[in-house]
Amino acid sequence: MTLSEFQQLVTTLAADGEKLIDAATTASSLEDARTSLLGRKSGRLPELFKQLPSLAPEELREGGSLINAVKAKLEARLEDRRRQLDAASSSKRNVDLTMPARRQWQGSKHPVTLVIEEIEEIFRELGFTIALGPEAETEWYNFTSLNFPPDHPALDLHDTLYLGENVMLRTHTSPVQIRTMQKFKPPIRILSPGNAYRRDFFDASHAPMFAQIEGLAIDDGVSFVDLKATLTHFANQFFGKTKTRFRPSYFPFTEPSAEMDVECQLCHGSGCPGCKGTGWMEILGSGMVHPSVINAAGLDADRYTGWAFGMGPARIAMLRYDIPDIRILYDSDVRFLYQISR
Ligand SMILES: [Zn+2]
Repeated sequence: MTLSEFQQLVTTLAADGEKLIDAATTASSLEDARTSLLGRKSGRLPELFKQLPSLAPEELREGGSLINAVKAKLEARLEDRRRQLDAASSSKRNVDLTMPARRQWQGSKHPVTLVIEEIEEIFRELGFTIALGPEAETEWYNFTSLNFPPDHPALDLHDTLYLGENVMLRTHTSPVQIRTMQKFKPPIRILSPGNAYRRDFFDASHAPMFAQIEGLAIDDGVSFVDLKATLTHFANQFFGKTKTRFRPSYFPFTEPSAEMDVECQLCHGSGCPGCKGTGWMEILGSGMVHPSVINAAGLDADRYTGWAFGMGPARIAMLRYDIPDIRILYDSDVRFLYQISR
């Protein structure tokens, strides 16, 4: 074979190869093209290599460089085409308008947190400060100092989560009253939000861990009038202008004691299933601090009087947002929480 004949074959292979590569529209048809051109077994280029020895010895060098050049050219062309096909398939993915959009969730405060913050703000304007206490308490702080008799059912293992001999998870935030009176001299006006624990069943209106807010005011000459005026002011601030009523009640640590109701926020007093037809909803327990509680904390009950209240922010949140089951508040279902919290 003459060099010009060989050159002709190389030129034809280059032209055919480029056409074949450009015509490939998928990764697998491109691979087929590569195999038919460069494939070790029967590719056209290796076949051409086999014809090199038929050239005259002085033409071998030039024939070899011709065929090596076309080999490099075809390999580069294959690589270019592979990149083009990759880019085309990924840009197709990017513009798929049928893909559902991904929802962006924004962090937000829990409904119970929102309620606690709002209550804090109302009392802060009245001069109350925030006081916190430990969640693990001794029997003395949780019960004895608060005037619970030793045979009170709350001390029973069935109701209280004991951590040890004399240590328990506090069953209410009231121990903070004692700790505050031990630390500060009157006048005292504190609000104490925090978690409390009871061995309740987890049902529609009870949870074993629940938030509570406790309030305490101690000073010379504080009376039930102060209690009633302050809590009525709170109800009107929180729920908007609303009717309130106080019902006599009993707590070991207050005397006299009263529960406060607000007009049912669902039916506005006419009676509905939400308020069991009464037109009222209980929101808190309150009373004048029992003299033996004041004395137990180390203050002089002959000189100082005071009042206290406690309420459950989860219950308040249920009333405000019309939530039928307390467990919804603890299920961490963001679809629900997001509706309220934004
Ligand atoms: Zn009602």
